[in-house]
Amino acid sequence: MLSIVGIGPGSLDLLTERARARISSADVIIGNVRYIELIKDVIPASTEVVIGRMGTEVERAKKAVELGQYKDVVLVSGGDAGIYGMAGLAIEVAADSDTKLEIVPGITSASASAALLGAPISNDFAVVSLSDLLVPWSEIERKLEGLAKMDIAVVVYNPKSKNRTVQLEKTHGIFMRFRERKTMVGIVRNAEREGCEIEITRLEDLPAFYHRIDMSTTVIIGCSATKNLGGRMVTRRGYERKYDYETGNGNADDIAADGYVDAGNRVWEKSRAIVRDIISKYPGSLSETEKRVAGRVVFANAEPSFLDLLVFNHQPVETGIQCIKEGKTIVTDIEMVKAGINKKYREKVKCFVNAPESMEIAKREGLTRTAAGIRLAKEKGLIQGSIVVIGNAPSACQEICAIALEEGDGGVKPALIVATPVGFVNAAEMKAKILSMGNIPCIVIRGPRGGTPSAVAIINEIIDIAHQ
Ligand code: SAH
Repeated sequence: MLSIVGIGPGSLDLLTERARARISSADVIIGNVRYIELIKDVIPASTEVVIGRMGTEVERAKKAVELGQYKDVVLVSGGDAGIYGMAGLAIEVAADSDTKLEIVPGITSASASAALLGAPISNDFAVVSLSDLLVPWSEIERKLEGLAKMDIAVVVYNPKSKNRTVQLEKTHGIFMRFRERKTMVGIVRNAEREGCEIEITRLEDLPAFYHRIDMSTTVIIGCSATKNLGGRMVTRRGYERKYDYETGNGNADDIAADGYVDAGNRVWEKSRAIVRDIISKYPGSLSETEKRVAGRVVFANAEPSFLDLLVFNHQPVETGIQCIKEGKTIVTDIEMVKAGINKKYREKVKCFVNAPESMEIAKREGLTRTAAGIRLAKEKGLIQGSIVVIGNAPSACQEICAIALEEGDGGVKPALIVATPVGFVNAAEMKAKILSMGNIPCIVIRGPRGGTPSAVAIINEIIDIAHQ
């Protein structure tokens, strides 16, 4: 009889009774030196022990199957024998023999580590091994990409060894592409063994812990429902949506309200993941911050083709970030653009389209009201060094060009122009004019497409980056 026994993570009180019984009554125990060491206190002195080296698993399994024909043999595996353990191999090797086989389950590293962290895998989760000794890396990478796109917790086994270090870095890169940078990550080294270390961090900070991750470490990457609750990593299952914890009662109104918030968050997460995927595959060359702005435009329009229409001239994103940090004014062409700009910055946003003076300028000069609003902003000294965001009116583009060109180099110049007017008439031409203006940093959506949502997406992303 051959028993393939999972011995759990290490601590003997996590050895199951059945495992203990098999170990006590075995004639022969076979295992690698680390596992034999962990269970030495429960191995009777008279039992024959065969120690195998790492990398000799096939040999060990064959020996166990052979001896198992006439002796009670225990083949020891760490954690659970069926999870990256010896069970599968033993079954394969025993296929043509008449040795009786039994698998004794054990506590796997995922459960042992999860319990130490809190409850990070309490909803759907997946397990991946980064070891490419038996599986080609390309296959592992494909699985990682698929999982990173799904909003579920992922347990990473075999994250890193002395010779295999890039796999963890690549895994981190993949998850950074598809998941929020603030996603919770748990790291457990030597779970339930001497030298146990537990760490809860964020995805973006994982590299700071690489030096503490080795072959006795399990890494758990959370999902959008994974929170840090009082120092414990918990993936919420949704009880919070259904029940009022204080009364214990389900409350239909609470379900609705909380449910929507949570559902909303999930939709947002998923959309962001899709956008990150689109951006990561875009062949054009964009800086990291330009990618963020471009991603926001794609997100706002649910339309990847905007990537081919966006033009970034003269490092406009960096200029915009600097302006926001310095609290510079934003001038918009219409109220709707102003209303869409992040509340954090709205008091710095000016729009004069409805100002009585703009009416007069419009009448007097034969301008549109939006163009007159831009002219009034200039007269009030608000254009020089500011950000001009035009989301709607081609005539406002024309006016800003006239202002910037007319005054010559020493004259009135905005620090940044964002121009995304939409329409079949004049929009493409006026935006082309802005692009041809030379050295003023600008972000433009070429052609007839664009509109207020795009203008707002661009400036809000710049504001977000500036506030980070
Ligand atoms: N059969 C084992 C897994 C073998 S693969 C099980 O079910 O747990 C080996 C990997 O398991 C290690 O690289 C590490 O990721 C994880 N592991 C094993 N023991 C661990 C421990 N005590 N603490 C944390 N992770 C451990």
